[in-house]
Amino acid sequence: MIDTDISIIGAGPAGMMAAISAAECGKSVAIFEANTTAGRKLLVTGRGRCNLTHIGKPDEIIKAFTPFDRFVRHCIYEFTPDELMEFFRQHGLDSAPEEDGCVFPTTNSASDVNRILLEELQKKDVKIYYGKKVQTITNENGLFIIPTDKFTVSAKALIITTGGVSWPQTGSTGDGYKFASAFGHKIVEPIAALVPLIAEEKFCAELAGLGVQKVSVSAKINGKKISSTGAMIFTHHGIGGPAVFDLSRNLAGIAGNNYKISIDFVPDINADVLEKNFTEDFAANPKRNVELVVSQFFPRALANIICLHSEVAQAQVGQINKKLRKKLVDTLKNFPLTIVSSQEIERATVTRGGVDTAEIDSKTMQSKILKGLFFAGEVLNIDGPCGGYNLQFAFSSGRLAGKNAASI
Ligand SMILES: Cc1cc2nc3c(=O)[nH]c(=O)nc-3n(C[C@H](O)[C@H](O)[C@H](O)COP(=O)(O)OP(=O)(O)OC[C@H]3O[C@@H](n4cnc5c(N)ncnc54)[C@H](O)[C@@H]3O)c2cc1C
Repeated sequence: MIDTDISIIGAGPAGMMAAISAAECGKSVAIFEANTTAGRKLLVTGRGRCNLTHIGKPDEIIKAFTPFDRFVRHCIYEFTPDELMEFFRQHGLDSAPEEDGCVFPTTNSASDVNRILLEELQKKDVKIYYGKKVQTITNENGLFIIPTDKFTVSAKALIITTGGVSWPQTGSTGDGYKFASAFGHKIVEPIAALVPLIAEEKFCAELAGLGVQKVSVSAKINGKKISSTGAMIFTHHGIGGPAVFDLSRNLAGIAGNNYKISIDFVPDINADVLEKNFTEDFAANPKRNVELVVSQFFPRALANIICLHSEVAQAQVGQINKKLRKKLVDTLKNFPLTIVSSQEIERATVTRGGVDTAEIDSKTMQSKILKGLFFAGEVLNIDGPCGGYNLQFAFSSGRLAGKNAASI
């Protein structure tokens, strides 16, 4: 039997940060990782660039987690975005926000983030057991016992950081839910949170791969208009990209068949100004083809769909009367799309659902059911929007869990 102070299951961002934090308090720490390397999901974040966090005051970051804002408050204050950036800066990795507030390492490399975490673990003598997919855990006389094929480890505290069920090829296969329920925890059904949406309209497939830099996508949920702004991309089955992912987070668990959404392709110009611009522009050059005019702002294939939808395709701008001009403006500002469902959870960026936070103390990340048992990261029923929020939560909750597990 190998004795350790703290065992951690999962070497993702939450588990690695929890281990660093516990080891800083002088504890012996062992991490069990199913893969033969650490941070498999971390390495693919931000398309390999790693959107580490989001710039903002803690209260702004916390608010972005709504409806989970109350639960994340303590851990975000425990380890803020500024402190996270400072942690990596002290280890030689600067990071900086882009125009939209998303923070990336200046090297644009997720592997630098992973490397620094691993170097810290090594410096702090944290033992990582690679290729050890934990199957069962028991609690005997207050100790957490983890058997493997070759040895058994006993620990005074256990931190479960196994992630959700999205992108299972990275190792997050939902094992944490199994362990949590075995200890009496309730699991909120996992659903896809930041995910592409499947649309009924067949033209999406024709536009697949075509992106628009900035749109605002909206839906009415329980009578309230919910919008998100950012880039979007057409896919073979519908739409994706950050603006759509954020909207999907609000639709999670709600979107059933035929959910109407609308796309504003020109969110920075209001409808009246747009119509005035068209009126002046059309009068100045009445012989131009309307599709060519629209394709100055959007790729030709999308301009074609917009014009077809506005019933002005093939027309010269001089032939467009006030009614049709208004229709064109309305199409650009409120393009309707029917959402049939979201893509499957395996393709989602994050999982909503997981270990029910009602049974977790948000000030310590400790289970309210079993002393010495802690959770951090995506295994919990917490998800944030696109933009670095989910990694910030993994790091913040990992730090809080590690520190408190060290006091057991
Ligand atoms: C494509 C993609 C891009 C993303 N980009 C961003 C981004 O730019 N910014 C952002 O904030 N968020 C991003 N996310 C989300 C973010 O990566 C996750 O929220 C974050 O990795 C969660 O961290 P975690 O440590 O809780 O879990 P994970 O990173 O999922 O790590 C869990 C670990 O536990 C291990 N494990 C699971 N079960 C067992 C077991 N039984 N025994 C041993 N080990 C086990 C797994 O192998 C894995 O290594 C992205 C997600 C995806 C899929």
